[in-house]
Amino acid sequence: MKCKVCGAELKKAGELCNNCMNKLMKEQETRNDKKVYYTFKKKFVLGYELLKRIEPIGIMILLIVLLLSVDIRFWPYTLIIGGAYIIFGIIYMFYVKASVSKGICSLYRTKLVYNEGVFRKKIVEIPYSEIDEIYYSVGNMQKLFHLGTIMVKRKTRNLFERNFYIEPVKDIEKVFGKIEELLR
Ligand SMILES: [Zn+2]
Repeated sequence: MKCKVCGAELKKAGELCNNCMNKLMKEQETRNDKKVYYTFKKKFVLGYELLKRIEPIGIMILLIVLLLSVDIRFWPYTLIIGGAYIIFGIIYMFYVKASVSKGICSLYRTKLVYNEGVFRKKIVEIPYSEIDEIYYSVGNMQKLFHLGTIMVKRKTRNLFERNFYIEPVKDIEKVFGKIEELLR
């Protein structure tokens, strides 16, 4: 007699083996887990978001300076282009602010749930049993603004799903301490 789901050999005839039963019960436990123990959010810091995009900003400034220095007849066009770029930049930063502020991570007894998305909601649910490793890092730019990144390595063969990260997070040591406490 074999298990109908995983094909494991069964001693007695039945619907599911112990292996599948345990898995099912664990999944049910995770699904029914509704109590949030700890929540942290992504933090919008204007200086950090600008510094992260220093390359396109720098290129644009260089281009404007170049245009201004070539010929005085280019000045009106340059001002229009520069003005449009600044307006676009401000609108884009408002979008970044909205999207960063929507990033919320909740820790339950059995799982981590991450929510984000301004127009389209994205929810990532990771049961603790699927976490291979969790740690944090602080990059050079992040250091300037007291920010950091929470990294989650999952037990999966899918390369696109293996690494999950939440950034930028304020008070990273404190937040990570709470996570460690819950996952212990
Ligand atoms: Zn089975």
